[in-house]
Amino acid sequence: MRLVFLGPPGAGKGTQARRVADNLSIPAISTGDIFRSNVSAGTELGVLAKRYMDAGEYVPDSVTNDMVRARLAEPDAERGFLLDGYPRTTAQVEVLDAILATSGLTVEAVVEITADADEVVGRLLKRAEIEGRADDTEDVIRRRLEVYAEQTEPLTSLYGSRGIVHRVDGMGAVDDVTGRILAALEG
Ligand code: ADP
Repeated sequence: MRLVFLGPPGAGKGTQARRVADNLSIPAISTGDIFRSNVSAGTELGVLAKRYMDAGEYVPDSVTNDMVRARLAEPDAERGFLLDGYPRTTAQVEVLDAILATSGLTVEAVVEITADADEVVGRLLKRAEIEGRADDTEDVIRRRLEVYAEQTEPLTSLYGSRGIVHRVDGMGAVDDVTGRILAALEG
């Protein structure tokens, strides 16, 4: 199974991605998590990415694409994968298509997790108190939502034209949302 998760910041993508990937026995690959662990480790990639992340902007495609290409070449991704937070731009969609095409593969399904805008801001501000993420301040959250609407939302129609998008309501209990996603993928 080769899956992509789309959804605005705060929709619960990361939480659901881990649960669904466990259920399907495939790795959940989160570009946000990979960037954050590079930031913590103080790598060159982390230093570069941090400037963009702290401002709520996307890390440049060239950097992100190389990172994903390397990650997908690891053996655990051979059986399939769930990408959380990638692709986020139409240029990244093209690169992902090209990476998969070298093995004769395609993205099989896209899960779009929808969430109410007010709910999303509330969730992210709450997470800020608990996790202390540098990009969970109100101004940066607002910018992340804008960038999502401008650069990533168009991907739902791009993938939609391939007939592979499953739209799932991300509101409600975590277990219920996981159940909805798994049901959508089985259907
Ligand atoms: P969220 O979806 O909650 O905003 P993520 O953890 O997925 O958070 O991503 C955090 C930040 O990491 C993004 O705001 C962006 O700066 C960077 N990032 C993650 N994935 C990508 C990507 N595919 N392209 C560019 N930047 C990315």
